Amino acid sequence: MENRTPTNKKEVRNFIENIIAKDLDENTHDGYVVTRFPPEPNGYLHIGHAKSICLNFGLALDNAPKSRCHLRFDDTNPEKESTEYVESIKKDIEWLGYNWEKNLFFSSDYFEKLYGFAIELIEKGLAFVDDQDGDTIAAQRGSFEKPGIESPFRNRSIEENLDLFKRMRAGEFEDGSKVLRAKIDMAHGHMCMRDPVLYRIRRVHHHRTADDWCIYPMYDFTHGISDALENITHSICTLEFQDNRALYDWCVENVSVPSRPHQYEMARLNLDYTVMSKRKLLQLVEEKHVEGWDDPRMPTISGVRRRGYPAAGIRKFMDQIGVGKQNNVIELSILEECVRSQLNSTTKRCLGVLDPIKVTITNWDRENHIIDAPFHPQDESFGSRSITFSKELYIDASDFLEDPPSPKKWFRLGPGRSVRLRYGYVITCDEFVKDENGKVIELKCTYHEDSFGGVQPAALEKKVKGIIHWVNAKDALDVEVRLYDRLFTHEAPGSVDDFLSTINKNSLKIITAKVEPFLAKAKAGEQFQFERMGYFTADSKYSKDGAPVFNRTVTLRDNYAKKK
Ligand code: ATP
Ligand code: MG
Repeated sequence: MENRTPTNKKEVRNFIENIIAKDLDENTHDGYVVTRFPPEPNGYLHIGHAKSICLNFGLALDNAPKSRCHLRFDDTNPEKESTEYVESIKKDIEWLGYNWEKNLFFSSDYFEKLYGFAIELIEKGLAFVDDQDGDTIAAQRGSFEKPGIESPFRNRSIEENLDLFKRMRAGEFEDGSKVLRAKIDMAHGHMCMRDPVLYRIRRVHHHRTADDWCIYPMYDFTHGISDALENITHSICTLEFQDNRALYDWCVENVSVPSRPHQYEMARLNLDYTVMSKRKLLQLVEEKHVEGWDDPRMPTISGVRRRGYPAAGIRKFMDQIGVGKQNNVIELSILEECVRSQLNSTTKRCLGVLDPIKVTITNWDRENHIIDAPFHPQDESFGSRSITFSKELYIDASDFLEDPPSPKKWFRLGPGRSVRLRYGYVITCDEFVKDENGKVIELKCTYHEDSFGGVQPAALEKKVKGIIHWVNAKDALDVEVRLYDRLFTHEAPGSVDDFLSTINKNSLKIITAKVEPFLAKAKAGEQFQFERMGYFTADSKYSKDGAPVFNRTVTLRDNYAKKK
């Protein structure tokens, strides 16, 4: 885990930072800034959650020392929740570089208190037990144009409500046979204020409270009160909850909680070519469209980590996109660019040929030439390694064309054309050999002895412009490389009824590449730039000692920008 330090105070403040600055000026919360990240442990975290994590934990770091960010698991839906999810969420937050320190909470810790607050509402005549089933209650809600219908049980006496609610808790009634509802206003402009359900009966085992409870509080009731119990000052959620703020406020105003938190809504992060709902991600996992939550094609934190996205690249992305109140869709390519720019300064360079074609240097009649090649073009601290130039090499098939366009447009190899091999010599292609299917399988070339060290060979009039990568055939290591493409072919897969129909069938391509021999020692998670080919990360699941498997984390350029 990487430890995060406060960011330098930025010049441009987002609207939440502005609110906080004002609150600090006016001493609204006694100078405190207390935020929280409140995941429901019903799935793995995705990049959208990372936005909320970076914002909430970032605000705490930026406003130290009278600040903190709580991690609170909103665990009120036991059927979908598990400790596996709890643990994965903790791991992802730490990996992103944040720390909740001692401030780890669970809504389930407040079940007893929440029950007490429900009693308080009943005693104030602000809640009642309804015997109607869910469908009936839903049908009575009305619409934006039409007020709802009041429940026939709405005017039960306080005594009867107290008795029934206590018996709900005691397990006297069947699941779904009764609910506790707030008594607010069935004609309220916000639908969520039309006597919302506060408690339901569910005999489900809870991953923390086991079978202690057969009634569970609803999210809207739990959330604001949990914030208030923890003295949260700024409770940040996404825009869909704007209307729910009325209910949030109603709950914290009508029960005896120790503080008065405020809810603020921001735009959620949406990325193109991606789905970001836990329900859909779960479906991808359960129906095995991907290998699991950490499949490197998944937009989950665990997926992008395995693929090789560095936490610093994700934080950089969040800084760049900012925090606003306008919902929009961000291009995946912006995230990829942040990943590239981060990896640029952290990875060693090396040579790897993804689609090998053999090159024989026909005039090579000397000993192998051992070349000292730097690991990083700008940063000497990365050191260097030896690469071997000899009679038989491999280059990438894409660097040769049988019938290339004019030398002004094609700087790589073709019949009679010359190119420089990175760190080595200029070679000229004299001949090519095809197999019985007409596929080019070998190039016969001559090398220019006087061209080493970037020198233009005397025998060539035209300046050699192209530089291509290569490996030595004798010592190259065969490694499995996994090339990823977008998981969906549709720009907004979430908007398609059958989003599974937009899965990209070619999102994973497994190849055998030829790479420099030192890569045999690559450890899981180690990252490299294969020159011209992209950034690669040794996979944490498939790599074995001496036999790494590489994920292509990101290409060096945005391939899609070119296509557009
Ligand atoms: P999903 O829609 O994927 O199920 P959720 O909002 O139900 O997500 P939670 O576990 O409740 O998932 O989310 C925890 C926190 O993360 C919430 O405060 C929520 O607002 C925030 N969050 C979730 N998705 C995004 C997103 N795409 N962009 C920004 N914040 C998000
Ligand atoms: Mg939620």
